[in-house]
Amino acid sequence: MQAKPNYVDIETRQYYHQANLVYLSTIAADCIIVPIIFFTGSMVSFYGNLIGMVIALVAVYLNKKKKYGLSAFLFILTITALGVIQVLLFGLNSGFMYYFFNMSVLIVYTKWRPSFKFVGVLTQIILFGFTFAYAIQNPPLYPLELGWIIFFHVINFVLNIIGVANSAYYYIRIAKDAQNSLSKLATTDYLTGVNNRVAFDTYMQDKKNAFDKTKRPFGLLMIDVDFFKKINDTYGHSCGDEILVSIAKLLKEERGNQDFVARYGGEEFVYVIDAFQPKTVIEIAERIRKKVEAYVFKCQKQEIKMTISIGGIFVNRECTETMDGWIECADQRLYQAKSEGRNRVIIGESMHAS
Ligand code: GH3
Ligand code: MG
Ligand code: MG
Repeated sequence: MQAKPNYVDIETRQYYHQANLVYLSTIAADCIIVPIIFFTGSMVSFYGNLIGMVIALVAVYLNKKKKYGLSAFLFILTITALGVIQVLLFGLNSGFMYYFFNMSVLIVYTKWRPSFKFVGVLTQIILFGFTFAYAIQNPPLYPLELGWIIFFHVINFVLNIIGVANSAYYYIRIAKDAQNSLSKLATTDYLTGVNNRVAFDTYMQDKKNAFDKTKRPFGLLMIDVDFFKKINDTYGHSCGDEILVSIAKLLKEERGNQDFVARYGGEEFVYVIDAFQPKTVIEIAERIRKKVEAYVFKCQKQEIKMTISIGGIFVNRECTETMDGWIECADQRLYQAKSEGRNRVIIGESMHAS
């Protein structure tokens, strides 16, 4: 029933989608590279990469089982081992050194605990040191022709650059989306899904600033549900909640995103309309009032009828009140609408009589 706010499932995106992307693109790249390696004649490298492909598939499977840490461990261990083996086989110029760098970045993004990550990155540095020291002093175990060396160097360079850049880009996106969903959460009313008081205050501050510059008129309505306490007392609090959700929906649907709707608190809403004539504001307010009056709310198989009272102000270029003054003025007219019998609209220009 509640308009549950969406939030970014960071865990799924960070540890599942991103890792899968890495594993699956490794498998895809291997499908092309492994047969090519076969033609170098190095069966150690060929079978090593074949095993690497199978491990990547196992990593995808483990990932599906939510074993994020283990799948990353197996994958990183395999690629690191292949890095060491192939640097020793083909020499430093083959470009397999780049994998130590790429794996260090992947380690940082895993779900491992920080101490484990530290050990992981340290291991990459130590392996790099030893492999480099060995390879610079010894000839390759399986020397390749210059053409192959250039080919592998370019391929490895490009794949690693893409890998690191993709991870960085992906995590920036996650952070941005998380930030957006947090700010949405902070400005959305949890029950009804419309703007909350925080969003209204920010909106009105902007509105006031814009009004001071442009003097563009607008209408501000305060809407309060009539005898709402009775609903809670008669049908229960959850029924009351459902009715608030329905009323918020009616308000939101009135003119789509053209107007600003917020829950001001309790069973009170605010509604802001950009309009050049007070007549337009009154018409819209009347339409809303009639819509709620005509609507049949349903709760616990009961049909319930409700009404609302609306007080409002048409803020025109002569208005000199502060923002709080506008709200107070709309509130006073709401109070008037209540005392004059409820289920009615009272709107006037500025602080003057309606
Ligand atoms: P009036 O016509 O004068 O506005 O009468 P009223 O009963 O609507 O006003 P009153 O201020 O006496 O009561 C408002 C009630 O709204 C009291 C409170 O329990 C209820 N209310 C406020 N917030 C919520 C909510 O989120 N859910 C539900 N179910 N009830 C709420
Ligand atoms: Mg009320
Ligand atoms: Mg009230």
